[in-house]
Amino acid sequence: MTTFVYDFTDGNKEMKALLGGKGANLAEMTNLGLPVPPGFTVTTEACQEYLRTGREPDELAEQITAHLERLEKQMGRWLGDPDNPLLVSVRSGGAFSMPGMMETILDVGLTDVSVHGLAAQRGESVHSAWDSYRRLIEMFGRTVCGVPAAEFDQVKRHSDDPKEMVAAYQKIFREHTGREFPQDPREQLDLAVRAVFASWNSERAVLYRRQERIPADLGTAVNVMAMVFGNLGPDSGTGVAFTRDPATGEPGVYGDYLQNAQGEDVVAGIRNTVPLQDLERLDKKSYDELLGHMARLEEHYRDLCDIEFTIEHGRLWMLQTRVGKRTAAAAFVIASQLVDDGLIDADEALARVTGAQLAQLMFPAFEVGAETRPLAHGVGASPGAAVGPIVFDSARATALAAEGQDVILVRRETNPDDLPGMIAAQGILTSRGGKTSHAAVVARGMGKTCVCGAEALQVDADRRELTVDGQVLREGEEISIDGTTGRVYLGAMPVAPSPVVRYFEGELAPNADRLIAAVHRLLTHADARRRLGVHTNADTGADAARARRFGAEGVGLCRTEHMFLGDRRPLVERLILAADDHERDRALAELLPLQQADFEDLFRAMDGAPVTIRLLDPPLHEFLPSLEELAVKVGVAQALGKDPGADLALLTAVRRMHEENPMLGLRGVRLGLVVPGLFAMQIRAIVQAAVAHRDAGGDPRPEIMVPLVGAVQELETVRAEAEQIIAEIGDGLPVRIGTMIEVPRAALTAGEIAQAADFFSFGTNDLTQMGWGFSRDDVEGAFFSRYLELGIFGTSPFESIDRAGIGRMIRIAVDEGRAARPELHIGVCGEHGGDPDSVQFFAEAGLDYVSCSPYRVPIARLEAGRAAI
Ligand code: ADP
Ligand code: MG
Ligand code: MG
Repeated sequence: MTTFVYDFTDGNKEMKALLGGKGANLAEMTNLGLPVPPGFTVTTEACQEYLRTGREPDELAEQITAHLERLEKQMGRWLGDPDNPLLVSVRSGGAFSMPGMMETILDVGLTDVSVHGLAAQRGESVHSAWDSYRRLIEMFGRTVCGVPAAEFDQVKRHSDDPKEMVAAYQKIFREHTGREFPQDPREQLDLAVRAVFASWNSERAVLYRRQERIPADLGTAVNVMAMVFGNLGPDSGTGVAFTRDPATGEPGVYGDYLQNAQGEDVVAGIRNTVPLQDLERLDKKSYDELLGHMARLEEHYRDLCDIEFTIEHGRLWMLQTRVGKRTAAAAFVIASQLVDDGLIDADEALARVTGAQLAQLMFPAFEVGAETRPLAHGVGASPGAAVGPIVFDSARATALAAEGQDVILVRRETNPDDLPGMIAAQGILTSRGGKTSHAAVVARGMGKTCVCGAEALQVDADRRELTVDGQVLREGEEISIDGTTGRVYLGAMPVAPSPVVRYFEGELAPNADRLIAAVHRLLTHADARRRLGVHTNADTGADAARARRFGAEGVGLCRTEHMFLGDRRPLVERLILAADDHERDRALAELLPLQQADFEDLFRAMDGAPVTIRLLDPPLHEFLPSLEELAVKVGVAQALGKDPGADLALLTAVRRMHEENPMLGLRGVRLGLVVPGLFAMQIRAIVQAAVAHRDAGGDPRPEIMVPLVGAVQELETVRAEAEQIIAEIGDGLPVRIGTMIEVPRAALTAGEIAQAADFFSFGTNDLTQMGWGFSRDDVEGAFFSRYLELGIFGTSPFESIDRAGIGRMIRIAVDEGRAARPELHIGVCGEHGGDPDSVQFFAEAGLDYVSCSPYRVPIARLEAGRAAI
């Protein structure tokens, strides 16, 4: 026989999957000897069966009866006793915390008869018995029978006599359900249990689970526990408490208390609470006892706990505890402090913080204390703090941004047509949609601050205004949005740079405050533990120097194409359009010293550490004017009877080089093999720069990386040319030659390619595009939000590595590459190198290092450390 019901004395905190978090922790507190009202838990398995079949398991009723009898005996009262009734609460609670998403029904067991018994027991607070009965009819009516809350609220507006309200509520109940409010307490209990089961699939619970990625089939447990009453007068009350400040992690007494009230009054925020400290004055005995229990719980759970408690006539009862949610800053501070307290070791502290939390701490934020009352709340979809005048369409956003304004794009929701405006805007705000809406997905992809689903806003794009709370805001009025908290403020709030970034920059000492000290300590520990190196993607000496301050141990990717833009563009145009070898060589000769200077900068900034330089990668037409614009220009000139001059020759060349699919066309190593002298010039520049830096007393570690190789022969050809140049001018300096692995064929023939490579670096952006067969630039607006909705992706494969597909190619390439050449050095330089989940994967796959943008370096260090424990 399956056990579907556990007494609180039979469970423990490890049994969350079966008893739910609330039930498991109630059992744990009971067994610690804390004052928990007695009760029992119906398992998640019973709920799963109910959800599957539409009915409770056969054995359930009988098992509930047995446990109820035990509870009644223990309490010396029974359910429905006309003189002294036992009342119970029926509480939801799944394996993962879903605060407020499911149902709880209090005061189950009251009837027209037993309410008199309870009133007699209460003596002078007769009133409170009727108040409990009214609460039961309301909660039961709403959650079990779906009576609209508004109906009850209507009554509250006209009466505050609970006895009168009970009569009115019962009438509402009858009208809505066609039956009397149940007078059999056991029927009340059974229906309440079923309603809690069913609340697993309430709309808001389903939505919450989707957002938090909680599996849909776990089901909730149901906790039935003896009621205690906080509404029996001034010596009673109810409250919530935290063992430390969940916002900052500082130890101390945090919480709220409400005198003469039931638990749900605090949560609902109906009446004003007082700070928990005030309880010391109101009821010192209970206060001291509570603080003792809190210390005990924190020591036992070895973590921040939050607590619900109730005081009945001066007697303290613990109603709930769990390891509490916290901000990113608090997570670091608490983990570090628990090490100081001797409760956890440094490895465990490291396991308790995440790269995603560190990333949050690196965004600029609104200055502390500057915050005013928010204008509206939405979903914090992409973190950061953005301030600026509002605009209502993409065109205005682009126009104002071109004038140098930092605008906030406000839309009901966004679609692919809004992309230019989203790119131009400083921040994005929508009134519809959640964390997987188009706006949210695209904004996160771009690293742009975004708040979505701020439903209080009425956006009227045609009139270029929005209405909130009766207030009208027109285009150009300033607002501030917080992509972390989802809050929207009127006016421009001051933004402060992140103190954690200032510490990485060396502007704040490692002991500047508790948070910095915690970050410093945990990162230092991560560095000591990690086997994965962390390099950076940097194209300039300045970027490389910053990344080094952030802890980078080399440059994993220098993209040389950025060095071909700006005022060098004419030179590059001459190179591409050269009519003969002579003209081409002249253009190359002019580019050579410029490239060399770039590389010298990099070697200086990364002295003593590897600098991996990728030879030119993108299609050449990226350096030329657009075909359309040029065609128009020439056409206009010709129509006016003017000589288009050089533009005509340019147009002919651009036409000649036009490609239907440039990303799959003449680029990368293919370019090097067909444009004579191009790669040779770059290789020369690298070697000369290295020799110059060494001659100046430095320690350059150049690595030449060939992009887009698909066949070993491509690499061999470039390698032969490079070796010749190195032999000629390298002056004995070691130069490593390797390749990107970013074409699926390269991954699948890695054993062959390794024969010609000193190192591999996975280009996961291209590998993902080519592996999936869609281009990153084209999909994000077009269909990704739909794919996320359908669950085809959990997250975008450009954000987090697709382990099953792209990851498999990586594993094959690592295995076969190392088998062919054991000393092969292997890294990754795609965007994934800075993504926390992907870093975990690269560590598992046995890579030597990841390379990521400078701001991601600390995040990768932390995750690499976590991967090693
Ligand atoms: P949630 O998970 O939404 O917080 P709970 O099950 O914790 O819902 O219950 C809602 C409120 O009712 C809480 O404030 C809780 O403390 C209070 N409560 C639950 N059970 C009892 C009880 N047996 N006696 C008194 N108050 C209770
Ligand atoms: Mg609760
Ligand atoms: Mg690439």
